[in-house]
Amino acid sequence: SLLKNADSAMYESKGNGKNQYHLYLPSMNERTFEWLVLENDLHKALEKGEFFIEYQPRIDMKNEQVAGAEALIRWQHPTYNRVNPANFIPLAEETGLIIPIGKWVLETACRQLKSWHEAGFTNLKISVNFSARQFLSENLIKDVAAVISDSKISPQHLEIEITESTLLQNELVVLAALRELMEMGVQITLDDFGTGYASLTYLTKYQVNALKIDKSFIKDISKNPEKDAITTAVITLAHSLNMQVVAEGVEYYEDYEHLLSKNTDEIQGYFISRPISPEKFLMALKKGTFT
Ligand code: C2E
Ligand code: CA
Ligand code: CA
Ligand code: CA
Repeated sequence: SLLKNADSAMYESKGNGKNQYHLYLPSMNERTFEWLVLENDLHKALEKGEFFIEYQPRIDMKNEQVAGAEALIRWQHPTYNRVNPANFIPLAEETGLIIPIGKWVLETACRQLKSWHEAGFTNLKISVNFSARQFLSENLIKDVAAVISDSKISPQHLEIEITESTLLQNELVVLAALRELMEMGVQITLDDFGTGYASLTYLTKYQVNALKIDKSFIKDISKNPEKDAITTAVITLAHSLNMQVVAEGVEYYEDYEHLLSKNTDEIQGYFISRPISPEKFLMALKKGTFT
């Protein structure tokens, strides 16, 4: 099997859950046979139904209730078991497969949201990650509008997460698409905020709805004065620009309390819950707790 001579291209991760393989993404000139196989497998994964989505709750800090969920794609590969998105999303972007895969994620997540609404949790929203490449698709706006209308959710309940790098590519195309999405009522959040290369002047060009502070600034924030200073400044900046602030990667009670005291609007992280199946998510909603 491919895993037998895996040391060059991939290795089994230790400690991070069972049957999880982390693939190392080789550079163009060291692309191996294994890599081509993986690409070939990725082409078939959608029709073979190998993708699924896990959902991670987002907590509204005003009332400490569930505000929504972020949809995170997973790939159940026939031989490598679970392949993490960090290992196949770059390949999907490079091959253009991210367009049909991204559309599948959007459809599936919106349908899921509708079913939670029908179960009585009518205020929940869904967050879906979009790659830069998806903004180059001519059909983007049409596709998003169709998914919203087919799933019968309100556009305000859909949040699209983009990263700063998306803003840096094909600026005019991205800007036009963002405007159209926002006119439709879709919420736009700048993900991984603080890690990219976009300068703060971008915030005046792109009136996004929210900033999601990257987890590297959040972990151990209660013990780290530098992280606290940066995060506090970002919260002040965002609020003065009428943007909401989300903190991701909240792992500890102390960090949660700290972010609560700093007027963070929403938080997400292992402290509340890891990403889980939609069935588990609904059970937690009904129980009123994720623990
Ligand atoms: P992201 O959008 O920044 O998603 C957050 C990542 O942090 C997720 O990893 C999530 O499982 C993880 N996480 C959540 N809470 C914590 C925490 O408290 N501590 C730590 N250390 N990590 C936490 P995941 O699911 O492996 O996804 C990795 C990345 O893959 C995502 O980063 C996103 O960039 C990409 N991705 C996932 N699903 C999709 C998708 O449907 N489309 C696209 N284009 N990208 C996706
Ligand atoms: Ca995200
Ligand atoms: Ca992020
Ligand atoms: Ca990311």
